[in-house]
Amino acid sequence: MADELDPFILSQKQLDNAAELMDLDPIAHAMLREPMQTVTANFPVEMRDGNKKIFTGFRVLYNDARGPGKGGIRFHPKENLDTVKALSAWMTWKCSLANIQFGGAKGGVIVDTKQLNQKELENLSRAYIRTFAKFIGPKTDVPAPDVYTNPQIMGWMMDEYSKIKMDNEFAVITGKPLEVWGSEGRFDSTALGGMYVLREAAKLKNMNLLGSKIAIQGFGNAGNFAFDLVTKLFGATVVAISDSEGGVYSENGLDYEKLKKAKADTGSIDGYKGAKKITNDELLKLDVDVLIPAAIENQVTKKNADKIEAKILLELANGPVTPDADDILFNNGVLDMPDFLVNSGGVIVSYFEWVQNIESYYWSKEEVYKKLDTIITKSFKDVIEKQKEYAAKGKKVDARMAAYSIAVSRVANAMKARGWY
Ligand code: GLU
Repeated sequence: MADELDPFILSQKQLDNAAELMDLDPIAHAMLREPMQTVTANFPVEMRDGNKKIFTGFRVLYNDARGPGKGGIRFHPKENLDTVKALSAWMTWKCSLANIQFGGAKGGVIVDTKQLNQKELENLSRAYIRTFAKFIGPKTDVPAPDVYTNPQIMGWMMDEYSKIKMDNEFAVITGKPLEVWGSEGRFDSTALGGMYVLREAAKLKNMNLLGSKIAIQGFGNAGNFAFDLVTKLFGATVVAISDSEGGVYSENGLDYEKLKKAKADTGSIDGYKGAKKITNDELLKLDVDVLIPAAIENQVTKKNADKIEAKILLELANGPVTPDADDILFNNGVLDMPDFLVNSGGVIVSYFEWVQNIESYYWSKEEVYKKLDTIITKSFKDVIEKQKEYAAKGKKVDARMAAYSIAVSRVANAMKARGWY
């Protein structure tokens, strides 16, 4: 991977910019530039023909000064250590900005899940947990779903960990099915949290979301529900959506149910009839009110940032915008809401799930949604307040840097309070 697009180098660059802005203690800065613990392991998985195949997996604990590590496990054919390190850093800032009792972590396996059957997927998930059991735990590091992992996989993983511990260890992992004490409201919480941020951002921009035009990149855990929610909550029109194979565009709007059916029938949204086919890059440059990257990192770069027409960019994916694109967007007046604010709904409800598992006492969906709204709206307001604080000192900073400044100072202060520096 070219250095300029290595997510870990980019995440360090973001931290360096924030450190300079906030005059961060150099020791704290050095400690926060690297993960506390990085584990890579090869492990065998039994395949359908009875033979074993070796897979490579990762679990990175970035920082646990504020609480146990927290972060998803990705199953991705191009997974690599530097991406997992970057994602674990972003989890640290995400949990800190939301002010929940977690540090940051992330995991991954190099695998193309489309090549596996259900049994192989289960074997892989259980083998991952057996391999990394020493490094996770309800008070150590708590995984969750991410790209190409889902509640069923979390169920198998919780079960495997429980077998190892000869106990019921529900709190070891979040995003579980409801039957094994997942939380109400977890499945669409990433997208819903993003909607609360969008509601606040639109207020700030004096934008009416009713009838506004939206483009969404990605139709996975986040993008799928975002489509449904922007329509239901705000009466907005989704004019374009894509998956890894490409996208579809229709000026008058796309139909959610029809799209889900196309995806289910053909495995790709490409099968959607009556819309124009577009590439992922074309989708980003459409003349829409709101652009929602909800897929993977490094989508808006210095190469295309100037062409973004949207007034609000809602980063539902992790790391979709590179630091050099940030400056271009800011100068062009695009309101870019940073990933670790926008997509924090997932981990906030994961936190609720963990709390409920520890207390063995469960909340209604309404309670979950209300508490999520309270936390994420507060984060949004904190960020805007921080921007104003800097502006009063003559420093023009974008929302990402304001969010970094809040999140990093909380982690640094926790390290200080623990006597780490
Ligand atoms: N994978 C999600 C994220 O990147 C959720 C993580 C979690 O719930 O721990 O925020």
